[in-house]
Amino acid sequence: MKVLVINCGSSSLKFQLIDSITEETAAKGICERIGIEGSRLVFEADGREKTVTEIPMDDHLKAVQLVLEALIDPVKGVLKHLDEIGAVGHRLVHGGEKFAGAVLITDEVIEATEACNDLAPLHNPANLTGVRACRELMPATPMVGVYDTAFHQTMPEEAYLYGLPYEYYEKYRIRRYGFHGTSHAYVSRRAAEFLNKDYDSLKIIVCHLGNGASITAVKNGKSVDTSMGMTPLEGLIMGTRSGDIDPAIIEYLTEKEDKTVSEIIEILNKKSGMVGMQDGGPSDFRDVSEAYKAGRPEAVRTLKAYIYRIAKYIGAYTAAMNGVDVICFTAGIGENSSFVREHVADYLGYLGIEIDQEANGVRGKDKIISTAGSKVTVMVIPTNEELMIARDTKMVVEGMS
Ligand code: ADP
Repeated sequence: MKVLVINCGSSSLKFQLIDSITEETAAKGICERIGIEGSRLVFEADGREKTVTEIPMDDHLKAVQLVLEALIDPVKGVLKHLDEIGAVGHRLVHGGEKFAGAVLITDEVIEATEACNDLAPLHNPANLTGVRACRELMPATPMVGVYDTAFHQTMPEEAYLYGLPYEYYEKYRIRRYGFHGTSHAYVSRRAAEFLNKDYDSLKIIVCHLGNGASITAVKNGKSVDTSMGMTPLEGLIMGTRSGDIDPAIIEYLTEKEDKTVSEIIEILNKKSGMVGMQDGGPSDFRDVSEAYKAGRPEAVRTLKAYIYRIAKYIGAYTAAMNGVDVICFTAGIGENSSFVREHVADYLGYLGIEIDQEANGVRGKDKIISTAGSKVTVMVIPTNEELMIARDTKMVVEGMS
């Protein structure tokens, strides 16, 4: 079966057509600047030259239509007919407490997802626009929703409850949900498979370090804690997000800076993290690490704090699981930066961790980077959220028959 994986943002739509048997990607691309002037479709199929088509896209419906046309285009396409698409897998961000796994999208599922819009106002409405557009253009094709929060629904109460009046949880479901679940699930499972060990009896810590970043403790195949919370703002220092701060800072800043709470939250989301700590410096990690190597003080303080926070969470999750067997690094920074991996590991000598310098030079492929004598296996595992969505989609659709 061919699965079309859709990841819809507010002005973009990423897609991948994956053969669910061979797990090969037949085509992939992105529609950018949807609803904005200068929209374009970037399309890449079967290792052929990438094409970029500048074409107006007023909305997501038009974007999906252009993707489908490109897929069956006699020159650049890979399908004869759209019927060859057996199912569409949608990345959905917030499923609240309702969804602990992938689901077949029905009117009720859309409604239940909409009920979580308050918890992810930037993501959920955009994700659902993609769902609606696909349903309109492919009414007979099953659609499956794969939520970022689903993998973390196994977290125990002690990990997901905040130290707040319990009635806020009861009334508003204020709790920790966690994100990047599809990535954490893929990477932890892949690590067990690579090591030829039983997934259900391993203690794994996954460090997903991209623009957004989170760490998850996976014990016996289940997420038992994760660093993001009710929203993706909690946890690690990220590209532009602050991660953990004392909540009292918010009121203090509204007074000192004469700003509203919303303005401060916007600063915590978009102008903090590595960018903010460098006084508005670069958010791209490659630039930050260049500046560090050149001894720029703003980059030095930023990277030291970034790495320290990661090491602190690894320590916390080792305690939460009463040990750790495997630590995995993934996403843009985790897969590519030997510098971050090495410096995080510098904090972990107490766990008997030893990094193999040569192996740590690896970029972007599954690899063990710890020495044979290291007490914990440290690995690089490139994430593949699209493949995970395609697998989940296949599983749900096969369960229908
Ligand atoms: P997201 O999906 O959250 O947008 P990614 O997983 O693509 O993010 O990660 C983006 C981050 O990865 C950026 O900070 C980028 O600088 C960093 N990155 C990408 N390639 C490299 C590299 N070769 N070395 C170091 N960092 C890299």
